[in-house]
Amino acid sequence: MHIKCKLTDGLTTFKNLHFCGKFYKKDIKLKYEVTIGLGGNVGDVKRRFEHLFIFFKRDKRVEIIKSSLILKNPPFGYLLQDDFLNSVMILRTNMQPIVFLDYLLRVEKKFGRKRSFDNAPRTLDLDIIFFDKKIINKKRLKVPHPSWSKRESVVIPLMDINR
Ligand code: ADP
Ligand code: MG
Repeated sequence: MHIKCKLTDGLTTFKNLHFCGKFYKKDIKLKYEVTIGLGGNVGDVKRRFEHLFIFFKRDKRVEIIKSSLILKNPPFGYLLQDDFLNSVMILRTNMQPIVFLDYLLRVEKKFGRKRSFDNAPRTLDLDIIFFDKKIINKKRLKVPHPSWSKRESVVIPLMDINR
């Protein structure tokens, strides 16, 4: 069940029980607060987000604190592909940044991600937007995510979560 809301011609939001911008967990045990971006445009992405939510909920290495609504928005870069669905989640973890990145890359793979070319269609893309208050400038990991503030796909879900 989703509540649908058309923002503009290209942008539509969806809310459900798990993706709705409300606090999910209050008794926090793990050390770092991490904001991740979720994206996908192949197959039933809303259903995949739901499975991902359940996957994180069962995984002791992360705690789900909050998740935003889901935003449907047009692709950028490579335009001959379906619209994307995006959301953001606030998680907590004890993993260090690079370990957490490798964890997310494994989760993407588990949910069917195949890498082809830049901005290609994807089943699930998981990006680190913020990692606590850390600034990271490694070859494999840039945090805050370099283009987060320029992307509607991140900013609109973030506005929902920070309401
Ligand atoms: P994109 O998300 O830009 O479309 P990919 O998902 O294919 O591209 O990611 C490519 C690489 O980006 C990853 O293997 C990772 O090493 C690197 N990367 C750098 N900074 C980040 C970040 N903040 N979050 C996720 N990946 C990152
Ligand atoms: Mg990515």
